[in-house]
Amino acid sequence: MSNDSEAVLVVGAGPVGLVATASLILQGIPVKLIEATADLAQDLRASTFHPPTLDFLDKLGIAKKLVDQGLVCKNWQFRDRKKGVIATFDVGLLEGETGFPFRLQCEQWKLTNALREFIDNHPDGELITKTKAETVGQTEDSVWVSVINEDGSREKFEGRFLIGSDGARSVVRKAIGSEFEGLTIPEIFLVLSTNFRYENAIPDLANIAYISDPTEWLVLLRTLSLWRVLLPTNPEHSEDFIMDPKNVEKRLQAVVPSSEPYDVVHKTAYKVHERVANKYIKGRIFLAGDAAHINNPLGGMGMNGGIHDAVNLVEKLAKVWHGAPLESMGRYERQRRKVAIETVQAQALRNRAILNATDADQRSTYHAELQGIVADKQKHKEYVMRSAMITSLRELEEVD
Ligand SMILES: Cc1cc2nc3c(=O)[nH]c(=O)nc-3n(C[C@H](O)[C@H](O)[C@H](O)COP(=O)(O)OP(=O)(O)OC[C@H]3O[C@@H](n4cnc5c(N)ncnc54)[C@H](O)[C@@H]3O)c2cc1C
Repeated sequence: MSNDSEAVLVVGAGPVGLVATASLILQGIPVKLIEATADLAQDLRASTFHPPTLDFLDKLGIAKKLVDQGLVCKNWQFRDRKKGVIATFDVGLLEGETGFPFRLQCEQWKLTNALREFIDNHPDGELITKTKAETVGQTEDSVWVSVINEDGSREKFEGRFLIGSDGARSVVRKAIGSEFEGLTIPEIFLVLSTNFRYENAIPDLANIAYISDPTEWLVLLRTLSLWRVLLPTNPEHSEDFIMDPKNVEKRLQAVVPSSEPYDVVHKTAYKVHERVANKYIKGRIFLAGDAAHINNPLGGMGMNGGIHDAVNLVEKLAKVWHGAPLESMGRYERQRRKVAIETVQAQALRNRAILNATDADQRSTYHAELQGIVADKQKHKEYVMRSAMITSLRELEEVD
C-alpha cells in the first residue's frame, strides 16, 4: 500500500478533478490526484466558461489568466438559418451580479494546464499520472483505490476521502453501485473547427450563435483562433463516413458556400447522452462532474456544472475534514443532483427542442417567446441569469 492516508484521493485529472484538488490544497488539505493519461487531454472539448465559473476560478487566481487567453463574449444569439437573428442576449446585464459579466470562449485545455501548474507548485498537491484506477473501496474511517501503472504493476493508495472525477465512464461510479440513469440521444454531434471567417460571411453574427432550422440546425462558436461548427449527424452513418473529408466539406459548404475548400483543423464526433447518477455519495466516496452527470453541450453547461460540483463538494468536505459529521455531505448530493436534473438537463433539452423543432407553428411560438424575453428588460436579465448558471447556484441555497 502506497501510504499517506492523511490525504484526499481524487481520481481523474479533468477540469473537475483539478478544480477539486486545487480548492482542497488551498485549504491546507493534502491531495493525491490519480490520472490515467501521461499528459492531460489537449484536444478541443468544452470551450464556454460562464460567469460564476470564472468567479470561482478567480479564487484560485486563474480566471484572469484564462480571460487573457480567451475571447470575451458580451452577447450570444438565437438565430434562424433563413430569417437570421431571432434574439440577441446581453450578458452585460449581469454587471453587478458577477465579477465577469460575459461568456468566455476559451479552450478547456488552457484551464487544465493552468490548474496543473497551480498544483505542481503546491507542496500539498501530488499529481500521479500514467496510473489508472481499477476500483475503489472504503472502511469505516478510510478509503483506498487500487491502480494499474503504465508498466503493468499494481498498487493501492489510501486516504481519508475519495472524489471520483473520472469522467463519463467512471470506474468510481461503478464501484459504488451508482446507476447512470437517463438516455442516449439518437444523434451524433459532429464538431468541426475551421479557420473560415464566419463573422465576415454571416451578417450580424455574434461569437456564440445557436441556429435553428427545420432540416439542419447548428451551433457556431468562436474561439480566439478558430470557429467551431457543431452539426447534428445521423447515427446510422459510420464514423468513417461522418469524418470523410469529402463529406465534411459538403456539410460545411451547405452552411456557408465558399469558393475555397474549407480549412478544417480539428474534427470530432460524439454520441450525446443525458444521464444523471442515481447517487453521488457512498460513505466517504463522492462523485463529481461527468462521472455524475452528462448532457448535450447546448448551453455549454457540462464542464461548468462539473466545476460547480467540485466547488460545492470541497466547501463541505473541508468542514468534514476539520471535524463536521460525514452525514453533512448529504447536502452536496441533494443540491447538485437537483441542479443536474432540473437546470442543466432540463435547459439543455429545451435548447435542443428549440433548435430542432420542425413544425412551423411550434417554431414561430419559440421565436416569439425568445423575442418577447429580450424585449422586456427584467425577463431578459432573468433569462441571462439562468442561462449563465447564476440562478441555479442561488436556488440551491434553499435546498436543505
Ligand atoms: C471528445 C469530447 C468532446 C467534448 N466536447 C465538448 C464540447 O464541445 N462542449 C462542451 O460543453 N463539452 C464537451 N465535452 C464535455 C466536457 O469536456 C466535459 O463536460 C468536461 O470535460 C467534464 O470534466 P470532468 O473533469 O468531469 O471529466 P473529464 O474531462 O472526462 O476528465 C476525466 C479524467 O479522468 C481520467 N480518467 C478516466 N478514467 C480514469 C481512471 N480509471 N483512472 C484514472 N484516471 C481516469 C481521464 O483521463 C480524464 O483526464 C466533450 C467531451 C469529450 C470527451
